[in-house]
Amino acid sequence: MTTHENLFEHPHRRPVQPDIAPPEDVRIQIEDDRTGLTVETLKRAFADNLYYIQGKNESLATPFDYYMALAYTVRDRLLHRWINTTTTYLEQDVKSVHYLSAEFLMGRQLSNNLLNLGLYQRVLQALHESGLNLNDLTVLEAEPGLGNGGLGRLAACFLDSLATLEIPAVGYGIRYEFGIFDQRIQDGAQVEYPDKWLRFGNPWELRRPELTAEVLFGGYTEAYQDAEGNYRVRWIPERKVLGTPYDTPVPGYNNHTVNVLRLWRAGASEEFDFRVFDSGDYVGSVTSKIFSENISKVLYPNDNTEQGKQLRLEQQYFFVSCSLQDIIKTYRRNHQNFDQFHEKVAIQLNDTHPSIGVAELMRLLVDRYHLGWNRAWYITKNTFAYTNHTLLAEALERWPVSLFERLLPRHLEIIYEINRRFLDEVRAKYPDDTGRLARMSLIEEGGEKYVRMAHLACVGSHSINGVAALHTELLQQDVLRDFYALWPERFNNKTNGVTPRRWLLSSNPKLSELITEKIGLGWVTQLEQFKQLEPLVDDAEFCQRWRQIKQERKQELAEYILLYNDIVIDPNSLFDVQVKRLHEYKRQLLNVLYIITLYNRIKKNPNIDILPRTFIFAGKAAPGYFIAKLIIKLINSVAKVVNNDPDVRDRLKVVFLEGFSVSLGERVYPAAELSEQISTAGKEASGTGNMKFAMNGALTIGTLDGANIEIREAVGAENFFLFGLTTEEVYALKAKGYNPMDYYNTNGELREVMERIASGYFCPENPHLFQPIVDSLMHKDEYLLFADYQSYIQCQEQVSQAYRHQENWTRMSILNSARMGFFSSDRTIREYCQDIWKVEPVKIDLKEYSQETAGLKIPQPPTLA
Ligand SMILES: *Cc1c(COP(=O)(O)O)cnc(C)c1O
Repeated sequence: MTTHENLFEHPHRRPVQPDIAPPEDVRIQIEDDRTGLTVETLKRAFADNLYYIQGKNESLATPFDYYMALAYTVRDRLLHRWINTTTTYLEQDVKSVHYLSAEFLMGRQLSNNLLNLGLYQRVLQALHESGLNLNDLTVLEAEPGLGNGGLGRLAACFLDSLATLEIPAVGYGIRYEFGIFDQRIQDGAQVEYPDKWLRFGNPWELRRPELTAEVLFGGYTEAYQDAEGNYRVRWIPERKVLGTPYDTPVPGYNNHTVNVLRLWRAGASEEFDFRVFDSGDYVGSVTSKIFSENISKVLYPNDNTEQGKQLRLEQQYFFVSCSLQDIIKTYRRNHQNFDQFHEKVAIQLNDTHPSIGVAELMRLLVDRYHLGWNRAWYITKNTFAYTNHTLLAEALERWPVSLFERLLPRHLEIIYEINRRFLDEVRAKYPDDTGRLARMSLIEEGGEKYVRMAHLACVGSHSINGVAALHTELLQQDVLRDFYALWPERFNNKTNGVTPRRWLLSSNPKLSELITEKIGLGWVTQLEQFKQLEPLVDDAEFCQRWRQIKQERKQELAEYILLYNDIVIDPNSLFDVQVKRLHEYKRQLLNVLYIITLYNRIKKNPNIDILPRTFIFAGKAAPGYFIAKLIIKLINSVAKVVNNDPDVRDRLKVVFLEGFSVSLGERVYPAAELSEQISTAGKEASGTGNMKFAMNGALTIGTLDGANIEIREAVGAENFFLFGLTTEEVYALKAKGYNPMDYYNTNGELREVMERIASGYFCPENPHLFQPIVDSLMHKDEYLLFADYQSYIQCQEQVSQAYRHQENWTRMSILNSARMGFFSSDRTIREYCQDIWKVEPVKIDLKEYSQETAGLKIPQPPTLA
């Protein structure tokens, strides 16, 4: 993909906001090459970096060399602010947030860093004067795809908001050598390729070998008495792995804060990795497959399903142990004991992936620092907070006790002790309720025993939150109801948000420019100000320009689709978009049933009056998720038939864009007119794609699920296309016994759709290919597609009717954007800060760079006598 990307022009990618002016006194002096902000200095620094870092001059440099030289130029300016920020945090002994996440889906860094630093205009100018185009360089950056989807992207939006709100914060995760696989579509099917994102080097990271941490695995424990006669346990591990941090600076928007994303890479500890192979086979030991580096080799490509693989638990413990040791090391620079630990350290668990942290902090405090159990437990509980991300049973993490015993024997003991004390507390409140004890235990009994990671996270945290109002409600009433009954005060809701910097300012500059012209730039950090756009729906000229900008984004996406998919689409058709991970609960298949319904109508009556639509899909399926991959194949097979049938007369087009990513999202969300948010009610925890679409002026067709409910309340029911069963109706239908055939037998159009698929019409060369999809719908239909089919079809008809009234559609589009202020991740982060983390902003004032700033004494050259 990156190979042709530079062929594609980005005429709309122009900056919107004025750059931050360099301080007066800096402008009159000769500027420092690595911190100076004037166009002249930037040009000089860029040329220097090309020469001295890339080792090239103009006649040798490739476009990628220019990208690297520019990235290093920007990085120098980041480093200056970062050192300043880190020093301030240390000196002021601030309370910091530590966001632990197995995934960070950051997206490309260059444009974002330029915008946040306020350098975009001047760098554009500096490059222009050097005969280069900024957009041609930004697309050369490999996207760090260190996440699967919404959960990882949320972590990235949160880091941007934390830095923008000037909150001391560190993101901790894993530096996967291979991120989410590269998806290509071959013969209509998904094929996975390794994501070699580090192949050409990563200019944004700094390796910090001096901060390497040791992580232990396996072995056994033994009890002993220390010199004072205390009972202690020591862990004699079998294996030691080294974790080396790689730091990426995270700048706030229009301030001097630069926080850090610290990702750990696993490496061999010679004494352990080589000792086991001490058999004369030196080369064999170096090339061994069981080497420690494997721990950070690859991201597990599953979204919303637990994997249950030993390596995955190793990854989790590896990054959590490194991070906790690192947090303790930093804390101890200012503190002699742990009394204030929870007052200086807030740790957020992004789902259960890092929840082993509860047992690890207990181990460090009790075994390494010799705190008493009760004291350690008090600190642990007041340090951790847990965010739940899913209601799907198949996504709740549990690890076999036998695996735990082999890999983390000391942690298993600690979990047993936590559980013993916890169950005593439950028993005290609910005497003789053995059912409740079994339900709440950290250990799942009966057959193979498992450790329930969500229970560990709940017990070890002072706060438990869901990510949308409905989701939190369902956690309290269903998935975690026993915990809610015991500790209602721990539960709270934090509805997700997205950063308007990346998802509007950077990805939709023309729209941002129009908005800024009308209401000023304040919205970039105060998205509530979007409300001021509301009266403009009565301004015909504004509406016309709004529509014009959407049209330009559609035109650009049409060119992209022509280039990559070789499909001609009508830029005046309705752009109906569903981009997100491929998952049965997200119901891409329901969308396909509607497409086939329209197709059947056309085949019956080729002259039928039908609104021209372009159905655009993108999304990766987990490589082992058979049905999801078959749905991709079905979408592409339907596309081939629909796009080439002369009866359709180009009124319908179906497109599947390969390789959905943050970068692709940045192109697609601004061009969308209809946002498909059609999950079965009660299944999508929040969704964040829904927010990116609506901010960019798409209308939503959606169920009452996740944050859709709050989006609909915010934008107004009259500006939202609602369909489908409610969560309560879903539960009731399942309780009474759902039979999809009831719908099949009574709905002629639905029957014809299913017959069309079953007949092999979309895949004549292999007519039974889609039989598993047909069978799964007809015999089970776990996600109630048939139950919602009629409601969806009718709702789509309302969409078509509404789209015919372009003026009113535009009005609804503007109102959707104007009312999305609540869904900025800045608002979400403010709530986390106030309710959970109890942290305050720390203003960073930027000291000018000098040799004194660096704290070094530069030796003077000897003077001649
Ligand atoms: C926002 C985003 C998601 C989440 O999309 P949903 O529609 O909320 O599932 C997934 N992947 C990428 C690349 C995103 O940017």
